Amino acid sequence: MYNNILLYVGFDDTDSSSGMCTTYVCAVVLERLKACGMTLKGEPRLIRLNPFAPYKTRGNGAVSFKLVLDHKQDVKRVKKIVLDTVEELSQMDDPRTNPGVVFYQGPITEDLQEYSLRTVQCMVTLEEAEQLAQQIEAEVFKYKNGRGVIGALAAIGCPLSDKTYELIAYREVDNYGEVRRIDEDSVRVMNQKTYPETFDNLDEGYMAITPHTPCPVLYGIRGESKEAVSRAQELVKSEEPIERVMVFLTNQHTDMHLQNSDTIAGMDQYQCYRVAGEVYSTPHVIEGGHVIFNLKDASGEIECAAYEPTKGFRNTVRKLAPGDYVIVYGGIGDRGTLNVEKIEILHLRPQYQNLNPRCKCGKRMKSAGKDKGYKCSRCGVKVVDAPKEKVEIVRDLEEGFYEVPPSARRHLSQPLVRIQGHE
Ligand code: ATP
Repeated sequence: MYNNILLYVGFDDTDSSSGMCTTYVCAVVLERLKACGMTLKGEPRLIRLNPFAPYKTRGNGAVSFKLVLDHKQDVKRVKKIVLDTVEELSQMDDPRTNPGVVFYQGPITEDLQEYSLRTVQCMVTLEEAEQLAQQIEAEVFKYKNGRGVIGALAAIGCPLSDKTYELIAYREVDNYGEVRRIDEDSVRVMNQKTYPETFDNLDEGYMAITPHTPCPVLYGIRGESKEAVSRAQELVKSEEPIERVMVFLTNQHTDMHLQNSDTIAGMDQYQCYRVAGEVYSTPHVIEGGHVIFNLKDASGEIECAAYEPTKGFRNTVRKLAPGDYVIVYGGIGDRGTLNVEKIEILHLRPQYQNLNPRCKCGKRMKSAGKDKGYKCSRCGVKVVDAPKEKVEIVRDLEEGFYEVPPSARRHLSQPLVRIQGHE
């Protein structure tokens, strides 16, 4: 009997900082399902959730995919393959690994979409994830405390009005933990031929497609379409074997994590915002090389930081001055500081300095001593009560948009090339 059954599968929290990757588990699951004749509808999805969620291992990613099944018995077979693979590959020994798997056969309801968006932008609880799953009759499987159910359900329900793709190439097991061997020049060529259809390939001329963790990922190429990332992959020369490749549809680089906040006081910790305000203190460097300034509006004030990993972006932030009007994009972390990802400088307030007056001969005069007026070092003229001259400071900064480099960019953060296009 042919039923054309749609089955959504989502899972999360299978990996630990010492190994594995939920996307890899997904790639293995899909290979096994394919081998059993199951048909995937569309691409698997890699959904990045709130970057400030405290239990995340690295990038807070969850996965989901949709299958079209012909027979009722296939649902049972799929569930067995998915659960067996998650059990086999998850890093269960790590106390922070708490896998969750969700199977769902119904429509993607507004409630489910709203829940998913909240999981990308705010904090949610396992209880509310389970309640929603029960309400929509989704089936939930929990391992250990099962926290992964939060992400698994969000990955199924997440709406993607904007989207990008990531092609991930995985390593052979023997190479896990070893230095990744990619021909860096080939990545430069790839970037030259495919940017901006692919992006974040290079950072200051150096390869930025490889992670630095012991996980199974060899490299990831991010781009606007499946075709673009696949074309780019053909140009990248790997000096080590590639075990498998998977292209994910994702919410990466869409700014989906950002909420618009009308006021500074209206923002909460562990959430990400787009907020306007006036620079209220002169940016200064603190220990560790982080650049700090205060942002203010009528409702209140918040400390903003361009942290050390944002490298050259800090030079821009250091040039801001009190009174400059900006829109800051970023998230509020543990210490209540807004971690800046992007900044749009809307207005540079003119800054002035008071200089000694000029002599009749045109030369700027020097102080003749305390309360003794000024003296010209060229013609020797002295004046006692000449006023200082107010001179506008030439700012070494322009109004416009500035962003952190690719190596410091959050997965969800939209690069300027996606917002403004490429000149
Ligand atoms: P990787 O990127 O390597 O896949 P990870 O950073 O995705 O790892 P996980 O191991 O998936 O980290 O852990 C994140 C945990 O936090 C999961 O259990 C997930 O369900 C949960 N979680 C995700 N978003 C939220 C949120 N907004 N509120 C509460 N919990 C969340």
